[in-house]
Amino acid sequence: MTELRERDAMLCRSCGHEERASEGYPCKDCGTFICIMCVFKGVVRCERCEANAQHTTAPQGTAAGVAATGSAASSEKSPTLDWPEH
Ligand SMILES: [Zn+2]
Ligand SMILES: [Zn+2]
Repeated sequence: MTELRERDAMLCRSCGHEERASEGYPCKDCGTFICIMCVFKGVVRCERCEANAQHTTAPQGTAAGVAATGSAASSEKSPTLDWPEH
């Protein structure tokens, strides 16, 4: 019984608890193990990917706001990409 449990047990990368791998789900981004309890709570990413996702989402929102304001004055999309050599 202990053997079976150990073979099946995986460490959840979101809450850190050891849960049955067969009842968990892979992280949406990196595929690491997320336990069923976290999935029930709406967790789809491991702790690291979740932090990563929030980190990348926040600046994007700010950049979009800046771009929206700047685009009216300058060109349409991202001027930095098509910027001529001066
Ligand atoms: Zn968990
Ligand atoms: Zn992940």
